[in-house]
Amino acid sequence: MNETAEVVILRLGHRPGRDERMTTHVGLTARALGADRVCFPDNAGQSKATVADITDRFGGPFDVELTDSPQAMLRNWAGKIVHLTMYGERVQDVEGEIRDAHQDAGEPLLVVVGAEKVPFDVYEEADWNVGVTNQPHSEVAGLAVFLDRLFEGRELEREWDDADRRVIPMETGKRVESADEE
Ligand code: SAM
Repeated sequence: MNETAEVVILRLGHRPGRDERMTTHVGLTARALGADRVCFPDNAGQSKATVADITDRFGGPFDVELTDSPQAMLRNWAGKIVHLTMYGERVQDVEGEIRDAHQDAGEPLLVVVGAEKVPFDVYEEADWNVGVTNQPHSEVAGLAVFLDRLFEGRELEREWDDADRRVIPMETGKRVESADEE
């Protein structure tokens, strides 16, 4: 959200065909809820194209990229790492210290979400393994709750730059305007 050090989401693993929508939704959720950038595995080019297209139409700033080595990205990350996992510490217990590191100390934050089984070294690389409940559910849901906790709801108020389209909130019905219209 450009309010402090960057927040980057790393999608670990992508099974072509099976994970297309999930990987795309990780990117769309990252964008909508305040992250600065998402990084997909290099076999997720279609998800990258969809997220880039939404950003072109509905605004940014938000970057989407591919990596051929997520493990190297983890190893070389110059900041703190959060890994979202049902086995982790409760988000409500660690969100304060994560916010302190990110907002007060200005450390960039890498948030890792898995697809299939996550290798154990990711648990060791992470500064925090964080559970959004300790129940199995979805990377999209876990990411959404985590980002909302991290930003304490401020992401809901953000403005979008360079949008072609803007949704006008309505009690009933659907209205989308060109962003140039008053
Ligand atoms: N069994 C897999 C593993 O090794 O962690 C989990 C697969 S799960 C369908 C895919 C991803 O969803 C996980 O890697 C994790 O990032 C996220 N996830 C699922 N449940 C979660 C929870 N309760 N809290 C945080 N993240 C969760």
